[in-house]
Amino acid sequence: MPDTTIETSSTPEATKRRPAQTRTEALVRPVRTVAILGAVGALVAAIALPAFASANGPAGAEPVTTEQIAKDNAQSIVVASEAVQTSNVRASFTATTPDEIEKKKAEEAAAARAAEAAAAASSSSSARPSTAGVLLAAPGSGAVRYPVLSFTSGEGPGSGRGHEGWDMIAPEGTPIYAAASGTVTASAESIGGYGVSIMIMSNINGTMVETRYGHMVYGSRQVSAGDTVQAGQLIGLVGNTGNSYGSHLHFEVRIGGSVLDPEPWLAANAG
Ligand SMILES: [Zn+2]
Repeated sequence: MPDTTIETSSTPEATKRRPAQTRTEALVRPVRTVAILGAVGALVAAIALPAFASANGPAGAEPVTTEQIAKDNAQSIVVASEAVQTSNVRASFTATTPDEIEKKKAEEAAAARAAEAAAAASSSSSARPSTAGVLLAAPGSGAVRYPVLSFTSGEGPGSGRGHEGWDMIAPEGTPIYAAASGTVTASAESIGGYGVSIMIMSNINGTMVETRYGHMVYGSRQVSAGDTVQAGQLIGLVGNTGNSYGSHLHFEVRIGGSVLDPEPWLAANAG
């Protein structure tokens, strides 16, 4: 945000003034703007650094999601509105010669770069797992898709111990896709034994089909209850939450409230 403001703020008013004033103010005014922005940057750094230092996750390893960027921008804006008044006073009597102005600018630029780096480091330590680089849609064009593209088949329903889904074993972080277009009926960080899970109701050629996705990674859900999803849309990441012992997707299919075996259902319908 800073760069465009610097150039536009000084000129329009300056041209209306008498020449003697114009020269002095033309020099001072941009510096004041730079100083304000620099001070804001320094405040952002001061806030961002402790947050970074207290985080437990791996530093700097993960890419940034759009949600994180939006969140960080929001934080910067709040800080800026509180910072302008004091920094304006301070900046008004500093840096009056061209040399000082150049030095000041360089200092402010360095501070701004440091603030940016700190903000980036802070956002990467967020608990929310990133889905940057994850395929956002499963390949295929059919009304039904495999929710996980690569997996090992685990336990299915009807084992006699109340297991009502098919365990699709895949590493933690493997993308999960909506098996069909529909409406998200539930999406939460904890739904009983499902753990982090999503449920979707779909009308597939006139038949209402409910699909359920359990044991996802905390914070990985990409949709909320009430959202409309498309078949093959990324909805979350395979995890090990809830009643789960090992990373896998617990995938359920229900028609009219009755549990189907997802394995033959997908084999017959997915494409
Ligand atoms: Zn299961």
